[in-house]
Amino acid sequence: MSLNITELDCADLRFPTSTESDGSDAMNPDPDYSAAYVIVRTSDPEQNGHGFVFTIGRGNEVQTAAIRALEPHLVGMDLETVLGDMGETWRRLVHDSQLRWLGPEKGVMHMAIGAVVNALWDLKARRAGLPLWQLLAEMSPEELVDLVDFRYLTDALTRDEALEILAKAEPGRQHRIDQLRNNGFPAYTTTPGWLGYSDEKLAQLSREAVVDGFTQIKLKVGANLADDQRRMGIARAAVGPDLRIAVDANQRWDVPEAIEWMTALAPHEPYWIEEPTSPDDILGHASIRRAISTPVATGEHVHNRVMFKQLLQSQAVDFVQIDATRVAGVNENVAILLLAAKYGKPVCPHAGGVGLCELVQHLSMFDFVAVSGSVEDRVIEYVDHLHEHFATPVVVRDGSYVAPTTPGSSAEILPLTRERFRFPDGEVWSG
Ligand SMILES: [Mg+2]
Repeated sequence: MSLNITELDCADLRFPTSTESDGSDAMNPDPDYSAAYVIVRTSDPEQNGHGFVFTIGRGNEVQTAAIRALEPHLVGMDLETVLGDMGETWRRLVHDSQLRWLGPEKGVMHMAIGAVVNALWDLKARRAGLPLWQLLAEMSPEELVDLVDFRYLTDALTRDEALEILAKAEPGRQHRIDQLRNNGFPAYTTTPGWLGYSDEKLAQLSREAVVDGFTQIKLKVGANLADDQRRMGIARAAVGPDLRIAVDANQRWDVPEAIEWMTALAPHEPYWIEEPTSPDDILGHASIRRAISTPVATGEHVHNRVMFKQLLQSQAVDFVQIDATRVAGVNENVAILLLAAKYGKPVCPHAGGVGLCELVQHLSMFDFVAVSGSVEDRVIEYVDHLHEHFATPVVVRDGSYVAPTTPGSSAEILPLTRERFRFPDGEVWSG
């Protein structure tokens, strides 16, 4: 019996994280981690796909409304048709001529498409009985390039070049799948480094990171230089000389200020500087990178594959930081992984938030098996927040993500959490 899509069941979920300064940085002092959540429902009550956009509180209702605006494109459609050609499904959503005006291909509408596309991938992986990373990693190079919209990319990456990258990695896939199952994928932790934490909490959490087997931590910087120098010193004393300490300015600086600040922090040997300036300022990132000794990382607010293309073309980044819910879902992230592979840059995803670790691990694992073929210089961010709300939370062991085995994309938030944290009428907010 054929199935139809019947509903995009949307919910505005918010977690009151601002009360503990969890997630606080130089630009975002009081985030309430939130999810504009969608369940793609079908005529079979057992067959649904879950997806979401991560936001940090106010505006999550706008994001939820944007997801709902996509309903006419999917409701009533035959499920096999939609899931059978995900490249075409992506294009139909992204190229809606009226909704496109709200971007194009950026911001709230583009992220809404990401949530829906990811929910469809969740459903596709569940139906295949595979975790998403494995579903992707076992697709043929031709099937994978069919997911990608090469419009605007061909001056940097053609379909044939993408095919070549994927074909080159094909022979080693099974070996790397085995490796992944045995060793997992390397993680780093941002848990110690939130700006709102006391020096004592920073030192204690940094020491715990070492005990937990991490080889890299990250500190938030950019509010006050003297504080940053002191905090870098505290963290270094806590973790020892060999562990990598990355820093993250969350877009705080102008270009000259970024260069000055990072020149002052250079004696502490930060492993990378993340988001030193506006995420839109490609030339600014290139200037900063040329002027300082610390490698540059960015991407969590880079709104589409076209901007990633330019960051790579202008040699503005050392580390590409994809985000599972900023761009238009799995398809666009496949494009970005291929671009990074073409330019030889490691992908170190942004995670944390609520559910970003759960989602993005699948993309890195796919990257390792089928695209880049390497874990060298690659780490997925890990933050130990809110995982208990997920049906299949991430497992991080000895500083590595354990490869998921449950079918799907790990996006599903538990039904009870969806009740309690619904804004504004769930008991957490109405009480
Ligand atoms: Mg960041």
